[in-house]
Amino acid sequence: MAYITLNKNHLFNNLDIIAKLTCDKDKIALVLKDNAYGHGMLEVATMAKEYGIKKAVVQSNAEAEIIQEYFEYVLVLADIPKVASSKIRYTINDIKTIKKFPKDTKVELKVNTGMNRNGIEIHELDSSLSLIEKQGLELEAVFTHHACADELDGVYELQKKNFELVKDGLKSKSQKSLRFHSCNSAALFRETSFDEDMVRVGIAAYGCLELPSSSKATELKPVLSLYAQKISSREINAGEGVGYGATFSADKKMIVSNYDFGYGDGFLRVCSNSFYTKDGVKIAGRVSMDNSSFLSDEDELFIFSDARDVAQFANTISYEVLTSLKANIKRDII
Ligand SMILES: *Cc1c(COP(=O)(O)O)cnc(C)c1O
Repeated sequence: MAYITLNKNHLFNNLDIIAKLTCDKDKIALVLKDNAYGHGMLEVATMAKEYGIKKAVVQSNAEAEIIQEYFEYVLVLADIPKVASSKIRYTINDIKTIKKFPKDTKVELKVNTGMNRNGIEIHELDSSLSLIEKQGLELEAVFTHHACADELDGVYELQKKNFELVKDGLKSKSQKSLRFHSCNSAALFRETSFDEDMVRVGIAAYGCLELPSSSKATELKPVLSLYAQKISSREINAGEGVGYGATFSADKKMIVSNYDFGYGDGFLRVCSNSFYTKDGVKIAGRVSMDNSSFLSDEDELFIFSDARDVAQFANTISYEVLTSLKANIKRDII
């Protein structure tokens, strides 16, 4: 069966680099949403705990419940609980939802500083604070998210300035020790003087941050590798096709073998006919549901060790390559 390996040393190397940038391991909140970016939630939670990570970020309540025993703090990005939890914090993404949170819920208020996706508007800050108080919620932090942390345009600077104004405003109103955070991976790696209370890092911890301008980012090492095993092998003659639609056609006699993974396992079908493994083995024909053929006779193929390579063939980002990998693929920590 196709399988995934997770390199613990690489994860720890990446967390070391991140901890240097935050100057404090306890400021790292590791993002574990979407099955820990396809790496496996429990596998990553186990390794993160061993490293000493105390905080995690997930998307939903269901995800929080799976990993909460591994951490002291869990932030849910978009869900509303039935009852308040002492460990799980919930994000307020819209002023209209404040009344839906049960009394005593620990909440973090997301502010829209320019991404225009989630968060209350800056002019709604005061009314949000009153509504939170009226609802009996425990506000612990105010945060924002960057739209362009990995792009060198003015939007990043504008959002940063807006968030500074939000922070200054709240500090001058002497709000009881609120925490503030705004950095995802790319923002942390481009910051020169990080001074917030927490970072929410995903892709950098998994070693696939694309930020060529940062020399520190190039020291990150991909954690996940995918291997596949041969189901069958044959010799084909010039002119013969391979796979659905016969979209690959042999130009000479060659060996083609079929391996046990396909788009049903999360390998992007758009890689059909174009993909090469790291060792230079070419894919032949269309990726099908549980099968992909390659010009190889090896019993096992090392499909990829860096999701960024696959992303190039698929014209997408490493995030999509990784989160596409199905949860039922076996994952071994090495
Ligand atoms: C997914 C997510 C992150 C993590 O982003 P990376 O680019 O993987 O570091 C941080 N904050 C929020 C709000 C997110 O949705």
